[in-house]
Amino acid sequence: MAFPLQGGDTYQSIAPTPLPEPYWVGFSSTLGRELGIALNEDGLPVDPLWLSVLSGNALATKKHTFSNPIATAYSGHQFGIWAGQLGDGRAILLGDIGPYEIQLKGSGITRYSRMGDGRAVLRSSIREFLGSEAMYALGVPTSRALAVTGSKKPVMRETLETAAVCTRLAPSFLRVGHFEHYAAARQTEYLKQLADYLLNIHYQECQDGEDPYLSLFAAISRRSAELVAHWQSVGFCHGVLNSDNISILGLTIDYGPFGMMDRFQMDHICNHSDSQGRYAYHRQPQIMHWNMACLAGGMLPLFEMKYSTEDAQQKLQTALEHFPNQYREAWLQRFRAKLGLQEDHVNDFTLIENLLQLMHQNRVDFTTTFRLFAQIQSQANYQSNPLRDYFIDRPAFDGWMQSYIDRLKLEKQSDLNRQNAILSTNPKFILRNYLAQRAIELAQQDDFSEVQKLLHILEDPFAEQLEYQAYAAPPPKELEDIALSCSS
Ligand code: AMP
Ligand code: MG
Repeated sequence: MAFPLQGGDTYQSIAPTPLPEPYWVGFSSTLGRELGIALNEDGLPVDPLWLSVLSGNALATKKHTFSNPIATAYSGHQFGIWAGQLGDGRAILLGDIGPYEIQLKGSGITRYSRMGDGRAVLRSSIREFLGSEAMYALGVPTSRALAVTGSKKPVMRETLETAAVCTRLAPSFLRVGHFEHYAAARQTEYLKQLADYLLNIHYQECQDGEDPYLSLFAAISRRSAELVAHWQSVGFCHGVLNSDNISILGLTIDYGPFGMMDRFQMDHICNHSDSQGRYAYHRQPQIMHWNMACLAGGMLPLFEMKYSTEDAQQKLQTALEHFPNQYREAWLQRFRAKLGLQEDHVNDFTLIENLLQLMHQNRVDFTTTFRLFAQIQSQANYQSNPLRDYFIDRPAFDGWMQSYIDRLKLEKQSDLNRQNAILSTNPKFILRNYLAQRAIELAQQDDFSEVQKLLHILEDPFAEQLEYQAYAAPPPKELEDIALSCSS
């Protein structure tokens, strides 16, 4: 078992609670194939035991045995406030498959369920399934999703809904909250086991330095800075960046009320329960930095084994201070690429910032706007470019575009090269809320075809896929603001 801790209250051995009369809602045949699962012509597992396993009704297929399912303890800060113990309240880690840990989300009550019912509803499970696979296809580090299984079992949320189980995979599901948990309990031995496990398996490059734990902290912080820059560059808002939802591997995890932005708004809030906008788009970098401070607190006892408290804090503080620059560098690199720029120029930061300001003021669609940059010719007149029609404030757009055209003159590459680079950096297809919502509403009427179709389209987000042109469109006006609650 990959989970590195043993004993105490570090985890509970617990089998999933069976989901009555399960059926497939969604299955990623791409990921299934990658895992060596034999599939039939419908792209579903040949071995019927997979449906049983992935709905929590069995612990073995013909080939795989998951003999020690567990739920793990962790703690965390929720909306900036220490929440104490949380843990896998509805997720059960089955074991390993290929390079991944396999986890069932919504598979019943555990010791960590608190007031919850241990279940997840169909709607949020479909969103997590499509969200994870879409992000993976965009190249963003993320947990994967193999399947969603559903059932008629009723589950109460704001209204009566039905239960589903989402199968998630990641090389490790360890979170910042795992470190916070053992730091709060002053159980330094467990912190050491967590850190040593990470050094041995996931951060081997940090093993050999003078201070491996400091290198480990710095590496996690760097990956997280790069991750959040990646999110910004695709318009992804996580929605609940609590420290228990922050992966220790720098992956996107715990897809809840997340959203891909349609119209660009710097302070866009995707989670309607987040009334203060703590997790708004433009605050994500700062919040990730804050979460890295939580991790520093979680790792502090490890450093106190070797240094005075003051020195230990100083070392972590110094490492933490690199975050803003690392983020800025990663962000610059991502947005330069989005604009097809290969060279580094001192004014690029301002150029990009000014564009984002303009996009914000004109509320243009984030994804289609960047994709249209592929049509800009450095020598030709851009006045007839459809991009220009997006911006209500034409004089401001023309002013900015002139600075972009001037900037293009500093590039050594050809127009064609740049245009191709833009098309392979800026996706045509993203999981827009209205598309997910349509698939969910059909699934709620037992038609799962749209879930599979969306998965298929989103697996190839940079390709033209002309037959699916309609799926690239921004939402119609009436579907622009679909409310996403925290309930799931
Ligand atoms: P989340 O906001 O989904 O990341 O969940 C925060 C915490 O609440 C985690 O410890 C979850 O396991 C737990 N939780 C959320 N929903 C449920 C539920 N329906 N049943 C049990 N635990 C839950
Ligand atoms: Mg969570």
